[in-house]
Amino acid sequence: MNIPTILRKAIEGERLTPEEALELLQHGDLTELGNAAHVVRLRMNHPHRVTYVIERNINYSNVCAADCDFCGFYVKPHDKGRAYTLTRDELDAKIEELTRVGGRQILMQGGLHPSLRLEWYEDLLRYIKQRHGVHIHAFSPPEIHWFAKLSKISYVEVLRRLHEAGLDSLPGGGAEILVDRVRQRITRNKALTDEWIGVMRAVAECGMRGTATMMFGHIETLEERVEHLQRLRSLQDECGVFTAFIAWTYQKSPNLPLQCPTTDAYDYLRTVAVARLFLDNIPHFQASWVTQGAKIGQISLFFGCDDMGSTMIEENVVSAAGTTYKLNAAEIERLIRDAGFEPQRRNFYYDLTDEPRRTNLLVNANVPGGN
Ligand code: SF4
Repeated sequence: MNIPTILRKAIEGERLTPEEALELLQHGDLTELGNAAHVVRLRMNHPHRVTYVIERNINYSNVCAADCDFCGFYVKPHDKGRAYTLTRDELDAKIEELTRVGGRQILMQGGLHPSLRLEWYEDLLRYIKQRHGVHIHAFSPPEIHWFAKLSKISYVEVLRRLHEAGLDSLPGGGAEILVDRVRQRITRNKALTDEWIGVMRAVAECGMRGTATMMFGHIETLEERVEHLQRLRSLQDECGVFTAFIAWTYQKSPNLPLQCPTTDAYDYLRTVAVARLFLDNIPHFQASWVTQGAKIGQISLFFGCDDMGSTMIEENVVSAAGTTYKLNAAEIERLIRDAGFEPQRRNFYYDLTDEPRRTNLLVNANVPGGN
């Protein structure tokens, strides 16, 4: 099947095969992919609106027993000089800073800590919930897999206990590429593909939702990118756990062990567009301005993304590899407006949490605005 026929099929709402997605990744033209993805995005989401959330990233600890070649954030447990675990006072200060700017949600993650037990995490969640009452979007499938391994209990049991203690939803971090050949080359001591998928299945079983992610542009092949998307789509068919998909590119840095040819904004936009066409069952796509910068983040609103993610306030993981893009709510809103959309705050579930901010609204704009 040729490219225009595949694109027409996706625009008309027919499901693409993995072979067709691969054909698009290999030979699709940037603007044609973008146009098709944008048509699909306008059909799947409110056509005039782009959402974002006021959220704070909190890394409760940087100690990790895994060994990922792309990670500049973690330290080994014996690295006493650099290892930290946040105190309650530090945690309070961070959450209070968030609530002062109107935020009601935290994204909290750490490494795979070798000595903290499940009870410690339960106490942490209870403390945050009782004291601050925020939505807790926390941990990741590799962390849940690790907790289950240390406690010798099932994923469902871990997640039920954490949910009861205050966990609201699970970020889809640590997916990288969900193909074991790739995972075994760039990570050690970390959940493999079926385990990542198994945790997300358990999240749905416990009545929670999560997000889907992809970190690409390192050692994976295009076929493996499609395999990753296929795993996400199949799981979503099975249990509908994902609210959103977020893709970003590997951020290479001289201090990281993973030294390989990386990729660029052109590939980022093409891949996001193909993912939008292929993942017909995941409702929302977040732009990754944290790795791509504000302008490419804004342009991705015309390549399938309908959401600008979160304000973060603090980011320690990507910035540990040298990437330091930061935006506050006013800047995010300006980028959205300049692109011709209406900015709207949301919560984790994509419920709107504020009135639309109607400045400079250009209805049905279909080209990125300059600023
Ligand atoms: S990416 Fe996560 S699991 Fe891997 S080393 Fe870093 S903190 Fe640990």
